[in-house]
Amino acid sequence: MPFSSLGLSPSLLKALAGQNYAEPYPIQQEAIPAILNRKDVLGIAQTGSGKTASYVLPILMNLQGKITSKNRHVNVLVLVPTRELAVQVKEVFQTFGAGLPTPIKSLAVYGGVSINPQMMALQGVHVLVATPGRLLELVESNSVHLTTIDTLVLDEADKMLNLGFKEEVDRILALLPKKRQNLLFSATLSDDVNNINQLVLRDPVVIKIEAESNNIDLITQTAYNVSDEKKGPLLRYLIKQKDLKQVLVFTSSTYKADNVADKLRKNGIDAVAMHGKKGQQARTETLHKFKAGTLRVLVATDLISRGIDIKFLPCVINYELPRSPKDYIHRIGRTGRAESPGQAISFITPEDQHHFRVIQKKMGKWVTMIDAEGLDIK
Ligand code: AMP
Repeated sequence: MPFSSLGLSPSLLKALAGQNYAEPYPIQQEAIPAILNRKDVLGIAQTGSGKTASYVLPILMNLQGKITSKNRHVNVLVLVPTRELAVQVKEVFQTFGAGLPTPIKSLAVYGGVSINPQMMALQGVHVLVATPGRLLELVESNSVHLTTIDTLVLDEADKMLNLGFKEEVDRILALLPKKRQNLLFSATLSDDVNNINQLVLRDPVVIKIEAESNNIDLITQTAYNVSDEKKGPLLRYLIKQKDLKQVLVFTSSTYKADNVADKLRKNGIDAVAMHGKKGQQARTETLHKFKAGTLRVLVATDLISRGIDIKFLPCVINYELPRSPKDYIHRIGRTGRAESPGQAISFITPEDQHHFRVIQKKMGKWVTMIDAEGLDIK
């Protein structure tokens, strides 16, 4: 099925061709016509499914000719759990909105950075992508008004609730006009998400896209038995010996992320750590470099793994195992997507053995184990 059969305008089809989107992903095939028809949508889908474009494209199309001229009154509100996702979603709006007959102005607002530049930038904005806390601050200071919202998107709703944003989301919902289109996307349908779903959505079109765990066969998984003190040398050995050009390394703590990145750099391997304690500008720059392929190794904690999308990421390394099997599947799901082959490597200490067996059992797949002792690592 081509994009042209979904009801999108010629200028959007041109923008899609410019991004080399040849065919719509399954979620896009279902969501785009429904959203163009002004239906509410419940999308159970993960990052990587193409969910962002599935709502950005029809929203941009619906906005053509309908934007409000009242200043600081936005038309579309997208609520997201993290600043990384806010920036990412805004970029998709900009990419596809650039060449449209009616130019659409979008803006991402999030906490952890100064509020003043965001207050100023809200002038003339049509699509606002926001984390809940910062949005409320901006509403309270009269920098933005939500009374003209006609489409609300709740993206990664499960994560938003898990991070404790329920109260803020409720407060924001109370500020919106009653008549509006609602789109809710979530990786899982937990009880909490279901509550919001029942509260917000009206007769929604429900779209369910298979989880990453079902795509796990696309990923080559290997695990190395290694002692804690040999992990650093093993990491350097693998990067060099396998000539890995772009690697995402996961650690469990910010301290460890910094430490691993420092050691790699001392050994002449280009690496940067990214975690919640880094400033927003540094995080954006690092992600940009990594996406552009000018940074070889990104060492990250789980906090940022969700929502980070990098095309054709060839390799993910679990320097330390995550606590839950779900997080393991989520981490390795950063690779081997969109039909490009990927590999996931895990470092397993003697203490991790039991936990790794639990992860494999839950995943329903046994991973090849290699003894690092047998390798020629210095
Ligand atoms: P998302 O699930 O929205 O984070 O999207 C995952 C990735 O797939 C992003 O890098 C998109 O640019 C890419 N993508 C989305 N839809 C398509 C498509 N129809 N064809 C090719 N790439 C796509």
